[in-house]
Amino acid sequence: MAGETSGGPRTLIVGGGIAGLTAATALHRRGIPVEVAERTPEFGIIGSGITIQANASAVLDALDIPLPAEDVVPIGEFHMLDPKGHSLMSGNAARIMPEPPSFNVHRADLHRLLLAAAEGVPLRPGRAVTAITPGPDGVEVEFDDGERGRWDLVVGADGARSAVRRSLLGEAGAALRYSGQTCWRFAIEAPDLVPTVTLEQWTPGKRAGAVPLARGRIYVYLVESAPEGTPGPGTNHPDIVREKFSGQHPLLDPILERLGPETPIHHGDLCEHAAVHFGAGRVLLIGDAAHAMTPNLGQGAGTAIEDAGALALLMPQHLTDLDGLAPALDARRRKRVETITRLAWRIGRMAHWTNPVAVFLRNALLHRVPDSTTDAQTREMWRPGLELAAELRDAATPAA
Ligand SMILES: Cc1cc2nc3c(=O)[nH]c(=O)nc-3n(C[C@H](O)[C@H](O)[C@H](O)COP(=O)(O)OP(=O)(O)OC[C@H]3O[C@@H](n4cnc5c(N)ncnc54)[C@H](O)[C@@H]3O)c2cc1C
Repeated sequence: MAGETSGGPRTLIVGGGIAGLTAATALHRRGIPVEVAERTPEFGIIGSGITIQANASAVLDALDIPLPAEDVVPIGEFHMLDPKGHSLMSGNAARIMPEPPSFNVHRADLHRLLLAAAEGVPLRPGRAVTAITPGPDGVEVEFDDGERGRWDLVVGADGARSAVRRSLLGEAGAALRYSGQTCWRFAIEAPDLVPTVTLEQWTPGKRAGAVPLARGRIYVYLVESAPEGTPGPGTNHPDIVREKFSGQHPLLDPILERLGPETPIHHGDLCEHAAVHFGAGRVLLIGDAAHAMTPNLGQGAGTAIEDAGALALLMPQHLTDLDGLAPALDARRRKRVETITRLAWRIGRMAHWTNPVAVFLRNALLHRVPDSTTDAQTREMWRPGLELAAELRDAATPAA
């Protein structure tokens, strides 16, 4: 693919996360003069694990962004467990769809791979955007160091608490809605404890997940129903995590015992935007900036990658009609992300039910869902990503 810019619209991507780096790579390779402003000094990412399911891995593949085998663990079997550790539901991602594969990956590894793919894109670390002022034929951008600049197009890929979204839609349009659930997550190196399958256990008001990662690491997420705003100084201490989640599952206890004061544990409330918004005029929103969602389907990054793919597909068609880009992105993506966002929210609530009768009926029902039904639903969830990937490949193939 071309790496030379061709004099298309000067484009600033705000945020060098999953959405921003994927979009930057895709646009740069299509000849768009793009640069990325990232508020962290070194495009560094803390974090734990993430699943990249077939819909997103297909788009990455179509964009020629490789995920080498040594950095990922293919998702095979996964089990949802009840409080006693009995399987409520299970599946096998590799059986549902062997190609393209679904992966677990450490966020730091994914970030490194996305950064490597973005070679040639001007990256501006340590530059936070504070505000934007859209005009009829461009966008003024203000940075935290007092500098200002003007671009033909701005893509807000600056996450759930997007400054670009706030500038465009105001505080109310950028507000997040709390799910009632707070989450601790970490990745730990413990080759002797890595589970052979992906596990998630539901107990009333709580969930715990353990996910195998490459190089002997395990990604653990722990979710609890709680009032809004519990994360604060010291709430990510290993003792607090152990106190809340020990005794949950025999596999989890030895992992929690290994947590030391040096283990980075992230504690944050799970939220979503009240409304999906892909931007207006010369300002686009993608990824969490457009549609922060609860992580219960493991598709926030997946849909962010799809957004970047959709932008790469649509941008070359709108080079002389930049104002048509936001509506085109919206038309292409809204239904897709609204469906996933709503379903993720519902699953999260259902997983934390505490009423014993409701829990009994839910578990009995989940037990009876045939594998073939779960498989078909999962394939259906992945389908739009696979179709997008096929379109990207077609668009990249020169006509005979
Ligand atoms: C507990 C949990 C588990 C999850 N698990 C999964 C999973 O398994 N699979 C999955 O697909 N998704 C998962 N997600 C969702 C996923 O993490 C997000 O959807 C994804 O990170 C969104 O990527 P993004 O690039 O849009 O935003 P981000 O990853 O938030 O990146 C935004 C970037 O913008 C930068 N930035 C922010 N503000 C500014 C500014 N003003 N100026 C410049 N730069 C700025 C940030 O530093 C960051 O680098 C999970 C989320 C949570 C909370």
